Amino acid sequence: MSLRFIVPFLADSGGVDTTAETDDDNPFQPILDFFDSGAFKATVRLFLFLLAALYLALVFWTFKDAKRRIADPILVAVAVATAIVFPFVGVIIYMILRPPEYLDDVRERELEIRAMERRLGHDQRCPYCRSEIEPSYLVCPVCTTRLKDPCRRCKSPLEPAWKICPYCTTPVRGPLPAELPGERSTIQ
Ligand SMILES: [Zn+2]
Ligand SMILES: [Zn+2]
Repeated sequence: MSLRFIVPFLADSGGVDTTAETDDDNPFQPILDFFDSGAFKATVRLFLFLLAALYLALVFWTFKDAKRRIADPILVAVAVATAIVFPFVGVIIYMILRPPEYLDDVRERELEIRAMERRLGHDQRCPYCRSEIEPSYLVCPVCTTRLKDPCRRCKSPLEPAWKICPYCTTPVRGPLPAELPGERSTIQ
């Protein structure tokens, strides 16, 4: 029993060249020829190369950007892995979910807030030994540096630039003003 008998269509297609007839009367033949040409193949290859280069550049960009925005190295790795596993789409997902600020900006802002707090009187430090002091301290408890002078009358701590005590209106220098009647009873 031969193969030709079992599969008849093999025998039918035997001698006919199916591509021969399409070569002549196909109106799209020039286009097909172009797609078959070396120039087209080179263009496709160049396009694929640029696509691969863009893909690698985006993965690298994701790594660089994530490192500037995310402190946790595991989350940086997750961001890069997303960009690798889902070409192009992963980068878009990362751009939607990434932290809005650079770590440097966050750090800078924290420093600014700390400096502002210091200017406002929080977190004061001794100018000599840098230990923490309260605004009410007259001397530094650590190095005994004199920080402020007490008011002559109410003993409140006065800033060096003050000309008058803001608590009892006594001038810092000069003669003491005459005490108002009744004041002596509240202030010793
Ligand atoms: Zn001190
Ligand atoms: Zn005073």
